[in-house]
Amino acid sequence: MTVQGLFSARANASASTYAIPRIAVIGRGFSGMMTAIALMKTMRTPFHLQLFDPNSSVSGGQALASGHSSEILNSRVRDLSVSAGDPDDFNDWLCSNAAFRSAVPAAIPGFLQIFVPKSIFSDYVYQRFSEALSSRRDITVQVSSETVTGIRRGRGDRFLVESASAPNPLFDMVMLATGYGVSADEPQSGEPVAMPTAVRARRLVSRPHTVLLGSGLRVVDRLLQMRDNGYAGQITIVSRRGFLPQSHTRSNADPVFPAEAMPGNLSDIIRFIRGACQEAEASGQSWQSVMNGLRKHARSLWRSLPAGQKQQFNRHLRALYDSHRNRLPEALHVRLQQELAEGNTVLRRGHFQRRTPTGLTMRPAGQQEIEQIYADEVIDCRCQEPDLDAPLMRSLIDAGLAMPDELGLGLAVEATGALSVDGRTIDGLFAIGPLGLGSLPDIDLVPEIVSQAYAAAEGVATRFYPQCKAV
Ligand SMILES: Cc1cc2nc3c(=O)[nH]c(=O)nc-3n(C[C@H](O)[C@H](O)[C@H](O)COP(=O)(O)OP(=O)(O)OC[C@H]3O[C@@H](n4cnc5c(N)ncnc54)[C@H](O)[C@@H]3O)c2cc1C
Repeated sequence: MTVQGLFSARANASASTYAIPRIAVIGRGFSGMMTAIALMKTMRTPFHLQLFDPNSSVSGGQALASGHSSEILNSRVRDLSVSAGDPDDFNDWLCSNAAFRSAVPAAIPGFLQIFVPKSIFSDYVYQRFSEALSSRRDITVQVSSETVTGIRRGRGDRFLVESASAPNPLFDMVMLATGYGVSADEPQSGEPVAMPTAVRARRLVSRPHTVLLGSGLRVVDRLLQMRDNGYAGQITIVSRRGFLPQSHTRSNADPVFPAEAMPGNLSDIIRFIRGACQEAEASGQSWQSVMNGLRKHARSLWRSLPAGQKQQFNRHLRALYDSHRNRLPEALHVRLQQELAEGNTVLRRGHFQRRTPTGLTMRPAGQQEIEQIYADEVIDCRCQEPDLDAPLMRSLIDAGLAMPDELGLGLAVEATGALSVDGRTIDGLFAIGPLGLGSLPDIDLVPEIVSQAYAAAEGVATRFYPQCKAV
């Protein structure tokens, strides 16, 4: 769905809105759309909102857009509400959707525990966005299909947002929601899945062979998509650590966590969590419930760890943690296991070295020798991290408006998304979503992005209308 039509009428008003607060949201993926919804629902005064993104579709960004409308999300409906304080909102939306209700009768009376296709979540987000917009006749929204290349301080503590086109008027607030960066190769809904990162090699093996790099949800998504499209060749997954996503449980896996205080250092914490998982399994609950419980403690736990232990976690444990928190619906996990058991897909643990005209070279785990792997295609499905060398990030860091977090995974942010430099909050600049992953655990997941977007919006609202803080 393109956004130009929706906004063109209101956008015309933008030139006359300079007296009211001007807010820029950079990125229209899930974090950007969520931030826009939160601002429209939270701000108590008129404002002008400008949404920047070179990608004209509003499909939920890289994670939620899919080549197939049938691709399933990895979170249950209960974890995907975009309404603050109403965890049932997505379920209610599904219940009021007659087409969905008649297609999924088995889940009546509610859909809280089920997994739904990405396209349905994307429709829900878009509808909530449209409703929030129609309920605010006092705001103007402008869509800019441009890549933002820099942000600088302008007059009166405002911000100059730089892009290829003519300069924009200054903004009072800028919300960065650039997630995994600009993707040139994102497949749009309904289009065949392009594979632009693939190297096409001369066929040297009798059966077609594709290598997928990575081990997270993107790999599983791509693997199952290929099979659904009829690809019958051999697939090799090359992953540094080799941890594929674990399975969700069939039942709810409501969060549980031991009441005792958690230990203070990383190895004791891991022992503590392992023990909690074993106890849960022994008492008929699941380790997934403990992982869900852990998420509620993750922030304070992360804050309490010294920098050295955070680095240790990042180097040695993040991949394992990710494979347990980003889980697959059971049916997809069964398909993945079948692929591996039947040998049609092979998991190789090792270090990818480089692409070659005939495939790639890798260093298998625990070995010194480099191995050549022949393949028709090599597809990079590794999790992209925010690129701190992208022009926008460089401009912020060089101007002292942002600094990398202590792990160099993204920008240093506070829980509200406010940017922080050497412990000092940067007034008027926020980063919502995965950009804050080095500062806030799980901030790349929907529930955490939703909470952060509302917290940021509350901060913005208070700045422009402080006397209403207690409302
Ligand atoms: C395969 C996959 C499945 C997932 N499934 C789930 C799930 O089931 N449940 C869950 O909770 N989470 C899931 N996630 C995680 C979560 O949904 C994502 O982290 C989240 O959607 C991130 O959205 P985003 O908008 O921050 O980033 P993105 O999706 O990367 O969007 C960023 C947008 O910003 C734009 N942009 C970037 N730089 C600029 C610039 N300089 N100027 C202008 N625009 C710019 C890009 O074009 C893009 O549109 C999944 C993630 C992946 C990868």
